[in-house]
Amino acid sequence: MCDKNKPSVQDIAELCFEKFESLPKTGKPTENQWTILAGIVEFNRQTGSSQLVALGCGTKCIGQSKLCSQGLIVNDSHAEVLARRSFLRFLYEELKQERIFHWNSELKSYVMDEHVEFHFLSTQTPCGDACILDDGDPEEQAKRQRFDKESEIIYTGAKLISDLNYDPMRQTPGVLRTKPGRGERTLSMSCSDKIARWNVMGVQGALLDSLISKPIYFNSLNFCCDDAQLESLERAIYKRWEGRSFKHYRFQLQKPQIRIDCGIKFEFAQRPDWQPSPNGLVWSKISDDLRPYEISVNGKRQGVTKKKLNTHQAALAISKYNFFLNFLDLLKSKTLLCEMLDINLSDLDHITYSSCKDLAKEYQLAWRHIKDQYFLQWTKKPNELLNFTSNPNK
Ligand SMILES: [Zn+2]
Repeated sequence: MCDKNKPSVQDIAELCFEKFESLPKTGKPTENQWTILAGIVEFNRQTGSSQLVALGCGTKCIGQSKLCSQGLIVNDSHAEVLARRSFLRFLYEELKQERIFHWNSELKSYVMDEHVEFHFLSTQTPCGDACILDDGDPEEQAKRQRFDKESEIIYTGAKLISDLNYDPMRQTPGVLRTKPGRGERTLSMSCSDKIARWNVMGVQGALLDSLISKPIYFNSLNFCCDDAQLESLERAIYKRWEGRSFKHYRFQLQKPQIRIDCGIKFEFAQRPDWQPSPNGLVWSKISDDLRPYEISVNGKRQGVTKKKLNTHQAALAISKYNFFLNFLDLLKSKTLLCEMLDINLSDLDHITYSSCKDLAKEYQLAWRHIKDQYFLQWTKKPNELLNFTSNPNK
């Protein structure tokens, strides 16, 4: 049955695939390569119109030793995470345009149009908990575990060093997991865990949270892949935390609609005889002169000369560093924001990324409580990775 109050999985997938096809060939999977595609669609309940606002493709994740203390590298290039970062880039531009956001002088905050909602889609089940099927049959479970182990290796391009390193808890439904890197541990949580976090804290992250009146949640999560199972997805995204008590006026555990459509095929979907594409692709619905499309390799811009590889010129527009610059630009352009956040305009040039994140006091406080309730084993990135300023030479 057609639900006129929101776009169908098919509508969302079509918008994603159409955009993907329209992008230049450079960076896309070549022959015998697969990738995962994730996208975010804006839907306006008043006008009934939908538009794609963010797209991400990718399968890779960077190991602990490659992390960057300047915020120049995107550590996690799984499609879901890239789509979310493209979405953040879109949101920063939207705050400048004031199309879906409006400044509310009473609340001293940006308020989003109440008719606007966002729908998320991925062409594969998110790695981690959602991949573990919860079907009591032991034989089926054993089969699934083998598949999960194999697909996790294929999925991330990583090889598990030996079975000694194999976490026996990994097949337990409901627990948190990190992503494997190339033979190296990563500090990145699985996509199931990250989506679950967005489902309580919102997708906007700390910096944007300090500027907007309410967190932004996905209204529906949509999957077009053969192996997706509704029970597992629901468990991974919210059911594993049902019954725990967490009450906050701003952040609440959501129960978004989760939909699966196995009939929709992505042309570069995973195949056992294909290799994962090494590239990440990101696109945001922003003005063309801002270069909305980027290709990444190892978390940096593709095509950067070796000499510039460790400079800010190698950073993607969706890197922490560039989001930080966007955030500071917004503050500089609207001094009311500085007042509201209790920060001097003159301090903005030497403030660190980490202390900017701390400006979102409510977000940080709520996250600490929510971590205790839901995400106890969430990895913490070393503080020295967040202490950079907007001046890359300092
Ligand atoms: Zn993932």
